[in-house]
Amino acid sequence: MDKIKIIPIFVPHVGCPNDCVFCNQRKITGKTNIEVRGEYVQSIVEKYIKTIENTYTEIAFFGGSFTAIDLELQTELLKVAKYYKDLGIVHSIRCSTRPDAINDEILQLQKHYGMDIIELGIQSLDDEVLKLSNRGHTREDSLYASALIKKYGFVLGHQIMPGLPGSTRDKDIQTCIDSIALKPDIVRIYPTLIIKDTELCYMYEKGIYKPLTLMEAVDRSAYIYSLYRLNNIKVIRIGLQNSDTINEGEDVVAGPFHPAFRQLVEEKLYLNTLIYKLKGMELRNKNIVITAKDNLISYISGQKKANIIKLKEIFGIKQIVFKNTKKDIIEISHQNKVLCSFEQNEIFQNYLKMQGDLCI
Ligand code: SF4
Repeated sequence: MDKIKIIPIFVPHVGCPNDCVFCNQRKITGKTNIEVRGEYVQSIVEKYIKTIENTYTEIAFFGGSFTAIDLELQTELLKVAKYYKDLGIVHSIRCSTRPDAINDEILQLQKHYGMDIIELGIQSLDDEVLKLSNRGHTREDSLYASALIKKYGFVLGHQIMPGLPGSTRDKDIQTCIDSIALKPDIVRIYPTLIIKDTELCYMYEKGIYKPLTLMEAVDRSAYIYSLYRLNNIKVIRIGLQNSDTINEGEDVVAGPFHPAFRQLVEEKLYLNTLIYKLKGMELRNKNIVITAKDNLISYISGQKKANIIKLKEIFGIKQIVFKNTKKDIIEISHQNKVLCSFEQNEIFQNYLKMQGDLCI
């Protein structure tokens, strides 16, 4: 078994008592005819398993606040998931939820029905930001919920949203530092976007809220991503994608959307380290060779060779060519002489050292 197949069960706003300024789930719910019941879960799982063969399979309840759903209905949905898990057709179950929808009773229910991963939308750990975003919960709720989820032995996920109303670069970084202290196993970083039909959209139109630019969001995410990685925390997603209940050009009104946002972040980290390593070297009119693993070359080169263009511009380099290697180390050489080298992890340390100042 080498791949994970996710069976997504969309639970639009069912159970969510809230109306966060950035969220359009209530509107989506109003437009869908989905009746979230056991049969609904069963029909989706049945449809998916027809295409599954010898694959690690996971049921993922997403879209609303799963553990805030009425307990009777929640049990009905979980029973179906557990049925398939007991049969060995499904291997794990995950859900996403709000921090204030976690307590002993709820977690005992999840344990009983085989839940494995609970992802908490903590978004920010700054009370003022939470208030301005109408999250309806506090920093304290996130601290309590995270500790309880860990205590019960679930895999803990954190979702954070840089760039919320009232936030700053420092506040977003502090949220990341505080999140690390809660020891999440996995993290998603979703820079705030302005989605149609939301309060945030109204705030944007009135000039009350200004979204991050794409480059600000890339810089902030690169810094936060580096902090998590250096603390051995897996970042499973950076940036929303078209499939995540939003469609570029349809739902996103403004904000730092990019269909390959994570790629931009990875590219920036490599560019930063290359500048850091080459700084002070006389490279004008020289031909440079970068030797790296095949899967890293697109990050180092950048989309449309953006990093190569930038490096040539900064150092006056004549030509940069790539060479494949199987080694983990990345080497930069001129006329077969290695000028400098670095390992992948260094890109994170260097980004923090340079304070993301090279926001290009
Ligand atoms: S808690 Fe989640 S589902 Fe509910 S309004 Fe906020 S973002 Fe939307």
